[in-house]
Amino acid sequence: MADPRWTPLEVAPNADASRLRIRWADGAVSEYPPRHLRIACPCAGCVDELTGRRILREEHVPRDIHPLAIHYVGRYALRFDWSDGHGTGIFPFEYLRKLDAGAPGEGSSPPGG
Ligand SMILES: [Zn+2]
Repeated sequence: MADPRWTPLEVAPNADASRLRIRWADGAVSEYPPRHLRIACPCAGCVDELTGRRILREEHVPRDIHPLAIHYVGRYALRFDWSDGHGTGIFPFEYLRKLDAGAPGEGSSPPGG
């Protein structure tokens, strides 16, 4: 049985299509500005796999970035084809939920420097 906290019942744009809206099985609703999601892309091209340090620079992400297509990856994740041509990032639903909730323990600060 999947955890309802990261089980989406509905994945769709919000009313004015400015955000991606996910309704979760536990009753919560999350809304994500597309640019926020693109910046949070967890793929190896955007985050250093060894250090966890983000390679992608926020200022390089276009202001009008938006997904051209959204694909389900099995039952556990979404993958976006972005308008900047990027499309390798897999966003597990657990990751998406934590992105929105700002779950404690996820935001460890990087080592100095
Ligand atoms: Zn990426």
